[in-house]
Amino acid sequence: MRAISVHEDVIVVESRIWRTTATVVRSGGEAFVIDSPVLPDELEMLPALLEQAGFPFTGLLATHGDWDHLLGRLAFPGAALGVAETTAARLRAHPGEAQRALRAFDESHYLSRPAPLALGSVEALPVPGYCGLGDGELELHPADGHTADGMAIWIPWAKVLVCGDYLSPVEIPTPEASIEGYLATLARLEQLVDAAELVVPGHGTPIDSSAAKALLREDRDYLEALREGSAPDGTLPTGRRDAEQRRLHAANVAHLSEAGAP
Ligand SMILES: [Zn+2]
Repeated sequence: MRAISVHEDVIVVESRIWRTTATVVRSGGEAFVIDSPVLPDELEMLPALLEQAGFPFTGLLATHGDWDHLLGRLAFPGAALGVAETTAARLRAHPGEAQRALRAFDESHYLSRPAPLALGSVEALPVPGYCGLGDGELELHPADGHTADGMAIWIPWAKVLVCGDYLSPVEIPTPEASIEGYLATLARLEQLVDAAELVVPGHGTPIDSSAAKALLREDRDYLEALREGSAPDGTLPTGRRDAEQRRLHAANVAHLSEAGAP
């Protein structure tokens, strides 16, 4: 696991699997962990990492309800988990889904964990809205399209955008919920990207504003081509067209034709 300090109040850790990111943000004697690393040893190390860096842990946030972003309570048992109202509704509607997905992942990689995942008290946050942290306030923006739920988090004093599974330098868009929703989210994120010092994607290394802007354009072009049925493998963005990305693209095409079937 890599940990990089990107601002005096912001640390980004990157998991060894899928380059999944978690962002630690601090203000006035409080610190939140947004999303989570995935592997057992990474989660085990997280509390000591915060302590050494002088980030006093007070709570968890998750950008969306996909299981790989929800593992914070394995590092901080008993902590409250704040999510968008849409994510809280998703978790309520599909109880045990994250736990089952985590178990399947662990079984396929022969991993064991010290305790099972319990999401505990999930706090539903109004989005768009604000979430107080110490002396500051995080801005919460709707971010659906990849999934039907989710939020992007803007850290105003650091000018850092934590956008969930959008604008990834390592993964093409996967519009599991809707292409229109995904495009609308990209349009909302665009203004934040313009103002950002740094953008932290759900998967991959944090990028600066101009790199994020370039990704946003590539992702929009890709989604528009996908919607028109004219996105062959060859149109995948440079740097995101290896075998795994082509597999994701094929899944996008299959998903779309299912959704469009009478
Ligand atoms: Zn993800």
